[in-house]
Amino acid sequence: MKKHLLFLGPPGAGKGTQAAIISKTNSYLHLSTGELLRKEIDSNTELGNQVKDIMNRGELVKDQLVLEIVKKNLCTDNKGWILDGYPRNLSQINSLNQVLLNINQPLEIVFYLDIPEEVLIKRLLMRGRKDDNEETIKTRLNIYKETTEPLIEYYKSLSLLQYINADGDLKTVSADIKQKMA
Ligand code: ADP
Repeated sequence: MKKHLLFLGPPGAGKGTQAAIISKTNSYLHLSTGELLRKEIDSNTELGNQVKDIMNRGELVKDQLVLEIVKKNLCTDNKGWILDGYPRNLSQINSLNQVLLNINQPLEIVFYLDIPEEVLIKRLLMRGRKDDNEETIKTRLNIYKETTEPLIEYYKSLSLLQYINADGDLKTVSADIKQKMA
């Protein structure tokens, strides 16, 4: 059973939902940088105040700030972990590689949750989070395509990538992930 997982895919693909299910079943850490950043905003921390406007515009938070959050939350004594929303660019890949080398817990599998763009937009508009309005969604999808999508090729070249068709109901997608991580 794979213990060190990464979920990659566009906003709205269901990374957070699936990561929550898998992490709960297996008692893995679920490390969602988006969630952790939103918590900082809700708690009115200095970091939260620093990132609030950027997140509401749908832009990426500075690499250094996100890295700090990842380091703080990725404790070494865990049963396993799922990264969701990190890394999102090449510089974040390099930082993550360093962090994982330091804790001696290499990434074992990367799930690429694929889904058509029109389905994503519908899902995000229905979800209605603060950054789920049409303009912000457009920004996030553009940044995803330009900056994050290339990471798929990187993980493919390392033979870590597993393709998941995320355009299905929740249970079908979970079952597919579970089968592939066994
Ligand atoms: P989604 O993937 O649906 O857009 P997330 O919760 O993963 O939702 O991310 C929400 C926002 O949090 C992003 O638009 C970005 O501003 C910020 N964020 C999350 N993860 C990162 C990251 N790894 N690097 C930079 N910014 C991030």
